[in-house]
Amino acid sequence: MTAPLGQTLRIAIAGAGMSGLAAALALARNGFTHIHVYEVASNLGFVGAGIQVAPNLSRQLQRLGVWEHLADDAVEMEAASVRAGATDEELTNVKLAHVAERYGQPHRVAHRAALANALYEGCKAAAPSIAFHFSTSIVEIDFAHHRIQIRQRNEEGEGHWVDADVILGADGVKSVVRKCMLAVHGELDDAEDTGQSAYRIMLRREQLAHDPELLTMLDSHSTFRWIGARRHIIAYPISGHTIFNISTAQPDTNFAAEPTAAWTTRADKAAMCTLYADFCPAVRRMLGLVTESEVCEWKLRVHRPLRTWVEGHVALLGDACHPTLPHLGQGASQAIEDGAVLAAVLSKLTDARDIHAALRVYERLRKSRTEFLVEQAAASGRALHLTDPAAQAARDAAFRRVNEGPTDSHTPDKTLENNANPKNPDRWLDREVQDFVYGFDCVADAEGRWGAYFADARAGAQPTPTT
Ligand SMILES: Cc1cc2nc3c(=O)[nH]c(=O)nc-3n(C[C@H](O)[C@H](O)[C@H](O)COP(=O)(O)OP(=O)(O)OC[C@H]3O[C@@H](n4cnc5c(N)ncnc54)[C@H](O)[C@@H]3O)c2cc1C
Repeated sequence: MTAPLGQTLRIAIAGAGMSGLAAALALARNGFTHIHVYEVASNLGFVGAGIQVAPNLSRQLQRLGVWEHLADDAVEMEAASVRAGATDEELTNVKLAHVAERYGQPHRVAHRAALANALYEGCKAAAPSIAFHFSTSIVEIDFAHHRIQIRQRNEEGEGHWVDADVILGADGVKSVVRKCMLAVHGELDDAEDTGQSAYRIMLRREQLAHDPELLTMLDSHSTFRWIGARRHIIAYPISGHTIFNISTAQPDTNFAAEPTAAWTTRADKAAMCTLYADFCPAVRRMLGLVTESEVCEWKLRVHRPLRTWVEGHVALLGDACHPTLPHLGQGASQAIEDGAVLAAVLSKLTDARDIHAALRVYERLRKSRTEFLVEQAAASGRALHLTDPAAQAARDAAFRRVNEGPTDSHTPDKTLENNANPKNPDRWLDREVQDFVYGFDCVADAEGRWGAYFADARAGAQPTPTT
């Protein structure tokens, strides 16, 4: 496809993470030829961890032409097991066979590096339309004159200004672009500390070789979630069953003393094992196998919903505007969807004077949807981490009721009372949430709504929620 303004608009993207790479690639595939990606890191040294590749993400990766780069790494999931952390009792086992049938793609999991690399390979193939500038950070935005101030690592002074027609803030949860945008209105940037942190661990097949139970899990097509008061662990096989990926969530103690400093750190294995000492033997053995130097801890942060994602010719995407707790497995997927939708709306433009209106359309298409998912992820965390025994018992009863999913897969019932389709406390396994997330094609949605939304945006009309 060739966007009418593809040869003329200069696009500057802050950040070469999931959303920045996806936006760059989608723009190039829509015919934009002047795309500059500025990344503070010296290269794409992607942090290793597992990532859920749900149907809505696979759909966009296929549209972006990069699925083949991920295909060998991805593992199809056929079931999701939720277990009591202390006893290993299986509370529910949700079959995922319906996913491919219902949403056109199976549910998969993969290595985060493989996903990022797939997007990067696509971007490299789109050269020279996309140019990467590594070791370069965006430090300031001039909203009135559509300029960004960039500074290269080791550069003396304040850096230099670069003109751009569209500026995309894909610079993650610590976004500088968001901070600049809020400052325009005298608002403070206040990323919220969730009080939670996450260990992210990967065990290689040879580390599990002597443990038949763990090896069976590695060879399975299942995710395993163990839950306990204030904590949980999720594990699943990635990279063609060669790696068992483990991610946890627990109260943050290591970062708490330094709220503004580090967000990721090498963590203490002994502290981690102590924290999960009351979990079942399988979990304890799993954590015990981790190499001391390979325990990585992430601080989990979110941000209150922003009043707007758009200022002039500048728009935010991904974690910069909707950081989402990992419990729903949708943060990267939604970031990539943002990039795809931005490209879809910008490619419709025939007059550069309408850039702001197009960005407003993007915001209207994405904001309420992603904010709903932010809340669903938080709700999952609250349910999984319950501490009150009576509330835990009610939750576990709800898990047992959804054991095999809804009996009628085509007419979801919205009430908890009706056992035909009770809500799943683990929201990513809930059929209604899956319908909302997995069944959605963000680009088709953008195409369908563009005309009406663009007319509203040009007229300055107030958007209405899309969810
Ligand atoms: C423990 C954990 C587990 C997760 N599991 C999942 C999962 O299973 N599935 C899922 O979909 N999501 C998951 N996520 C969320 C997912 O990782 C993020 O939502 C996703 O990476 C967001 O993409 P992004 O492009 O917005 O930001 P990022 O991927 O963080 O990229 C931002 C980029 O901007 C760069 N940058 C920052 N500041 C500047 C600047 N000033 N100038 C230039 N460059 C800059 C950074 O170096 C970085 O490369 C998980 C997150 C965590 C913490």
